[in-house]
Order: sequence, then C-alpha cells, then structure tokens
Amino acid sequence: MEIMYQSTRRSGTKVTASQAILKGLADDGGLFVPERFPKFEVPLGKLGEMSYQETAYEVMRLFFTDFTEEELRACINGAYDKKFDTPVIAPLVRADEAGACAPSRTGSSVSAGMDSASVNGGAGENAWYLELFHGKTIAFKDMALSILPYLMTTAAKKNGVKNEIVILTATSGDTGKAALAGFADVPGTSIIVFYPKDGVSPIQKKQMVTEPGKNTMVVGVDGNFDDCQTGVKNIFNNKELAERMDTAGYQFSSANSINIGRLVPQIVYYVYSYGQLLKNGAITAGEQMDVVVPTGNFGNILAAYYAKQIGLPVGTLYCASNENKVLFDFFGSGTYDRKREFILTSSPSMDILISSNLERLIYKIAENDPDRTAAFMKQLTGEGEYTITDEMRRELAGFVGGFATEVETAREIAEVYERTGYVLDPHTAVASFVCRNKANAAEIPTVVASTASPYKFTRSVMKAIDEGKYSDMEDFALVDELHRISGVEIPEAIETIRTAAVVHDTVCGTGEMQQVVEAKLGIS
Ligand SMILES: *Cc1c(COP(=O)(O)O)cnc(C)c1O
Repeated sequence: MEIMYQSTRRSGTKVTASQAILKGLADDGGLFVPERFPKFEVPLGKLGEMSYQETAYEVMRLFFTDFTEEELRACINGAYDKKFDTPVIAPLVRADEAGACAPSRTGSSVSAGMDSASVNGGAGENAWYLELFHGKTIAFKDMALSILPYLMTTAAKKNGVKNEIVILTATSGDTGKAALAGFADVPGTSIIVFYPKDGVSPIQKKQMVTEPGKNTMVVGVDGNFDDCQTGVKNIFNNKELAERMDTAGYQFSSANSINIGRLVPQIVYYVYSYGQLLKNGAITAGEQMDVVVPTGNFGNILAAYYAKQIGLPVGTLYCASNENKVLFDFFGSGTYDRKREFILTSSPSMDILISSNLERLIYKIAENDPDRTAAFMKQLTGEGEYTITDEMRRELAGFVGGFATEVETAREIAEVYERTGYVLDPHTAVASFVCRNKANAAEIPTVVASTASPYKFTRSVMKAIDEGKYSDMEDFALVDELHRISGVEIPEAIETIRTAAVVHDTVCGTGEMQQVVEAKLGIS
C-alpha cells in the first residue's frame, strides 16, 4: 500500500516519497514523515542470508512506494558498488577483538536508569562495531549520500521536473564531502555546501575544498554549524527567492538528513547488522539488540528508531553525545535547551546544539500532532528551549542519553588501541565510551555505530594515542604514522587529497549565505 509523507508542522497536504525527496523540507519549514510505519515483510530469520543490496531493497520498497522495483534496484546497484572498499558494504567487527565496552573504569557519564552494578559485566564479548565508513569519503554519510543522487534524479524524472536541482547543504564536516562526491557532475543538478570555517578537521576541510566536480561550490562560513544549518533553512523557506529561482530554471533540494531520502537508506544498515548478528550466532531471530549511536543532528539514531518501528527487534537506543550534550540533558530532563555555549570538540560532526531530526521524534511522541510539534519548534526558535509533557516523556522510554567528555574520548581511543590495536575515530570513541558504561552489556548484544575512519581525524586520534610524540607532526606525516601503528591501509579518499589543489576559497558571513547562492546562480 502506498505510503504518503506529510509535514511535522502542518496537517493536510500529503506528498509521495519522490516528491518529498525532491523538496527536502516541507513548505511550512517542517520535516517530511511517513503518514504511518510500514511493517518489514521478510522473516527475520532470513536476514542473515541477505546481501546489503537485497536488504536495502526490502527496506526501501516499504517507504519509497512510488518507485518501481526496477528503479529502486537501479538506484541501489548504482550506489552500493565498487565505490565501497568492501563487498559487504558495512562490516560488523567484534568488539572484544577491538576492545569496545570492555569492563568499565569508574565515572560513568550515562544517564537515566543505568544500573552501575552491571557495568563491570565484561561487555566486550557482546558488543560489535558496525563500520559505516567504507564508502568514498570514509564517513557514515556515504551510506545514504551515495544513493541520494540516484533517488533524486529518478524522482525528478518521475515528476517531470525540468528545473536544474540545486542541492543546498550545511555540513558539520562529513555530509559536505559525501554530498559533493555523490552529486559531482550529475547532470541536471548542482550543489552548494556551507561549512563552519573553523569548525571542521583539517582533513575534512581539505576533502571539501579540493572537490573538482564542475557543478560544485564550497563555501566557508564565519560561524558554527548551527549558523550554517539555520542559514540554509532560511534560504529554503524564502518564497520570493523560490519564485525567482523557478523563473530562472532552478529549484532547491537538500542533502541534509532532513531529507527523507537520506533517512530511509540509513535504516538499512541496522537491519543488515541484525542479520549479521544472526549469521554469526550472537542472537536468534526475534531476540533484541541494543544500539549505541554517536549523535549530532539525530539522523543516524532516528534511523535506528525507524528500524524498530518497522519491526526490527531493537531494545534500547543509546544516544551518545560529546560535550555539546544537549540531547543527554533532554533525555534526562524532558527540556531541550539550546541556550548554552557551543563547544568545538575533537568530534566536530557532533558539534551541534539544534538537532534537526529530533523534530521527527517529537512529532511521533506528540501523537503525530503537527500543531503541537510546530508550537515546540516555535518555542525553540523564539525562546531557545521547550519542555515536553510527562506523557511524551514516557514515550521516550526506549532512549537513554550518554556522553563522553574530551578527556574520556581521548582515553577511550588510547585504551582500545593499547588493548587491541584497533583505532577508533573520536566520534566512534564517544559511542564506545557510552557503550562501556551501559546496563545489561553482557546480556544484550550491542551494536555501536562506527561513523568515521580514524584517518579522517588523524590529528585528534594520534594526539589521543601519544600527545607528546605526535603534536608537532604535519597532517600527512600523521597519516603515515597512523598507517604504521594500526596496519590499516590508507584509504583512497586520503591519498587523493594529499597533493590535490585547493579549488574553493570562498568565505562569507552568516548573513551573506543567500547572496552567495544568488551570485553563484546568477539571479541576484
Ligand atoms: C554526521 C556524523 C555524526 C552524527 O550523525 P547524526 O545523524 O547527525 O546524528 C556522527 N559521527 C560522524 C563521523 C558523522 O559524520
């Protein structure tokens, strides 16, 4: 049966999946959500025998109901191919080999109902890293952004779109390059990426500013990620600009996780990881797995929640934050309060105070009420905070917030490396630390979402392992050193930027983003 999409902020008009993908954001500023959750139709016991691509098809067909089988399979096969450096696409690595969640030290930072007595349960035997960084740009964003351009161009064809689609993207570092790689030189599209000029890692920045695609533009913003994201949302919501764009033959869409075309492909790897746990005998069909997700914009963990909604036996969802722990506080208190200092950390892709996708969860726990959701979002914009009701809080029982400080994150990287030789990136380390302190660790198999290759954050990683030794080395010397100590092959994504020329050097103020877009498109 067809699934339609509607805005989190207004009832009434419903759009098809392909229209939701094309638009990105609803006209009222809300996010598109499925009007109901479909149920996964494949028996769980079969999952262990399915390839990543087959799993992707079985998940996506449930949500993208106006795509034909042929279209969906073409999108999937185009996306999940040799661009990934492993045929399994998303390997599941056993954590006791890699050291995750092994018995805890003192000082848990995990909130809400944690049973600290069970912390020393030797969780290592039952925790797994789901490596989501084997795509072209070595962060988990590739899992969805390698398929989004296919979905977008297919959706454009289906809907008779003649305009050039201009992808506008705000990035905290990883979305930018993954979106550039996906949309580079795709006919009928162009892409403009805004990143916080001092808020990304040196490697992340170099990856973006060396992007050679002819239809790409990369702009540094004199502000933080929230400024970039708010600026992009404002451009989207500008009706007058949209009209001028249309006259000139352009229309906007989004590659951020506000686009449902990104969220749905992210459900796939949770389903796939369950299959892998079945295959290696860690669970039997129907038993629950927990997930720990290093979180920023709340897209990745929301996908795990959506996986649970369609029938995957997911137990508790651990939302792991860095020192920008607005979500940890929210799960603990029911108040979302963005009025706080924005901290630049070693996990920059999680340096976010306004987690956009939380709006989709709020909508769900507000009994799918767009008026109430809109009121909360208005409070967030106006007053900088909102508090959900007790009833809504009860609906959040499946979530637990945790966080790691900068010191804890660095220590996690160092300890796991010393014990096992496995090197975590700082984002995964935040989750690994939270996993280490979770309840029931030994009983319930736990999947830790590993969101980036350590090569993407070489400086922070090497500093965590041995600050004195590595602090004076330059970026690519550190890359070679990481290779030496870990034995992990240097990814192609890193080798290609070693000598690549900088081709994007535009920088603008937070108030100038729209002008930059207009100038680029020649419509100012
Ligand atoms: C984007 C990103 C995150 C945060 O994911 P969200 O979906 O924004 O919560 C975590 N780690 C890495 C490496 C990322 O690139």
